[in-house]
Order: sequence, then structure tokens, then C-alpha cells
Amino acid sequence: MAGGVKTGAEMDGKRYDSAFARLAKSKFRSRFRLSQEDVEYIAAKGMATIRTHCEDFIRTRLAPSNPPKDGRQTPMRGHPVFKAQHACACCCRGCLAKWWKVPEGEEIPAERQAGIVDFLMAWIERAMAFAQARDGSKNNSRRS
Ligand SMILES: [Zn+2]
Repeated sequence: MAGGVKTGAEMDGKRYDSAFARLAKSKFRSRFRLSQEDVEYIAAKGMATIRTHCEDFIRTRLAPSNPPKDGRQTPMRGHPVFKAQHACACCCRGCLAKWWKVPEGEEIPAERQAGIVDFLMAWIERAMAFAQARDGSKNNSRRS
């Protein structure tokens, strides 16, 4: 993870350590885990593709000044990025404002969207490592 993209607020610095520590204090945020299905999906698609999905979700579901169905636009499951969004408090504009001081009612600039994507991908990488250790899978348990 190269980082380097300015995200503002507490999201940057020390490679998200303080952000993750803050999220760990929330029972709701910290209960999100990648399932075996998620792990297999990510392994099959590859991180670059997952990042593209993540960029699309952020651009279309979060970045507009008034996103459709704001507050309910991020399902609890169905894509690993959705779980990352809940775990990272990047699920809706209300959470982004409350946790990361992203102003509501205005479009999120591209640079800050990229910072959110970096943050979510960092969570996914950590969650992948955790899930693989938990499940003892070494890629060869992948179903196809
Ligand atoms: Zn939310």
C-alpha cells in the first residue's frame, strides 16, 4: 500500500492505524468479517478488480452531493466492499461526516474518493489476512 493520497481528517497518517484503532472500539464496526465466500470471491477476481468495484461504488453511491437512498445505500452483504464500508464507517454520508468529517450535501472530490478507496482496500487486505489465518485456506481450497 503506497498511500500518499491525502484524505484529510484522521484517515491518513500512520497508514490508517489510528483510524482502525478508533473503529475497533465500535462493537458494530468491528463485528464485520470476510466470509469464506468473500475470500474466495476476492481471490478469484483479484485485488485490482475489487479496487475497481470499490471505486465504482464510492463514485456512484457515496460521492454525489445527495446520493440516492442515503443511509440505506450499502447492503450488509453481497460484496466484500460493502462489508468494508460498514466496518470503516464509509457506508453513507452520515457516517462519513460523523466519523471522518466529510462534509455532507456536497460532492466528494475525486482525490478524497481515492483516499476512501485506499482506506477500504487496506481494510480488505487486513481482513483477508485475518480470514485466511482463521480458515487455514491457502488458496487451494478455492471452489470454482
Ligand atoms: Zn452509514
